[in-house]
Parts: sequence; C-alpha cells; structure tokens
Amino acid sequence: MAEVTFTNELFHSDELIVVPILQELQENVLNANSKDSNEKKEEKVKILTNLDEVSQKKYQGNQLIASLNEWAEPIGFKLVFSEGKKKLNEGYKRVIRCNNKECCFQMIFMAPHSQKDQNYEPIDQILQYELKEYCNEHNHPLNYKAKSQFSKQILDEIDLLKGQIKTLVDLQNVINTKFGTNFTYAQIQYQVNHLLEQNFGHPTEDATNFVEEMRKDVAQNDGHFSFELGDDGKLEKALFISAAMLM
Ligand SMILES: [Zn+2]
Repeated sequence: MAEVTFTNELFHSDELIVVPILQELQENVLNANSKDSNEKKEEKVKILTNLDEVSQKKYQGNQLIASLNEWAEPIGFKLVFSEGKKKLNEGYKRVIRCNNKECCFQMIFMAPHSQKDQNYEPIDQILQYELKEYCNEHNHPLNYKAKSQFSKQILDEIDLLKGQIKTLVDLQNVINTKFGTNFTYAQIQYQVNHLLEQNFGHPTEDATNFVEEMRKDVAQNDGHFSFELGDDGKLEKALFISAAMLM
C-alpha cells in the first residue's frame, strides 16, 4: 500500500482508499472556531441561577412546568420541556430546559413510583417531582418578559374568588375575561394551591389543621384526600385531589 498524493501516480489496478484529509482539516478548523466563539460567549455572559427554592420543593406532575415558570419568569427566563415523560426503573423523568436554545440551563426531575406497580400508570396529579440534576448556568442576559404575569390585583381577585367559584375552569374564564389575560388552567391551579398553602400553613408546620381542612373540603365538595402517619404519629404523606382536578 502506498500513499498517493498526485493523480499521475495512480494505476488502473490500484485499489483506492480515499482518506478525506481536507474534510478532517476543515472540521478541525471549524471545531477550533466554534470553541473560540463559545469561549467568547462564556466570557461575555455567564449567569448562575440559585436553585435552593426549587430543590426544596416537590412538584405535582400536572403543575410542574407552570410552577417552575412562576418561579423562573420573575427572574427573567422561561422554561420548557425538552423531551417527553420517560418511565425508568426508579420513577418518571422529566427534563426541563431554558427556552433559549443556545443555553445549557437544564433541570432533571424525577418522580418516584412503586416498583411493585410496574403496570400501573399513575395520573400526573399524583406524581411528585423532585430536582435531581441540573446545569444552572445561563449564557445570555435574563430578560424574558412574561406575557401573562400575575399582578397583586389579579392574585387578590383569585384569593377572593377561589372559594366562591365552583371549578378552576370557571375561575380561569372569570380572571382572563376580567383582566384581559391568557392564563392557562395550570397557572390558575398553581396560584390557587399556592394561596391555599399560604392560608392553611405548610402541612408539616400545621399538619392537624391541614388534615382537617382537607377532610372538610372533600366532605363538602367531593374529591379525594388520604394521608399516612409515620411511626411517631407525624404526618408523612398526604394526597389531596380536589373535585375540580378530577373533572
Ligand atoms: Zn438560559
């Protein structure tokens, strides 16, 4: 075998092996260039977002993206799902990234499911997602402006109406009509749950009140509420699904 650099060195009987030297060289040049431009970008903007608040919470599956955007939008960025829900041995996985395609900001959430129930598909409402892995660095200024931000006035109205209007769909329509907004069902649901949490206190802080309020709510309005106590008699798990959520 011989290396052929000029066509006049070729003979008809030669077996040719073409080595794309030029392409390799081009790729090296391209790689070097893109590395350079990435490095320049990183020098220009590198913003780390503190994830303490997110890592301390559990997120209900059907509210995951809405809840996270309630957190991210005031900081100045928007989050989107980067792939569909995946079922793994240890639970359900959701990957969420910054809506800026060039940005590496990403969060991986897992919701555990019981190994015993391999064939059972839980509804999104009962999946509790927790942050497992992340890249909390943005390479762009955080200047996202949300189209539908909840103002103090809107939140007050939701707080006032949440006990008077029967379903969340009705509440969504009333709010969007009154304020000319375009809030999704999940956004309204998140705010109502958030207000309920504020009004009734955090379950671990005031578990007895929480259990009583939830039982009362289910007795009056239907829905589902169950809870589990630990060996020490403390509230360990609680599941509340309002009538509106089951509709
Ligand atoms: Zn970003």
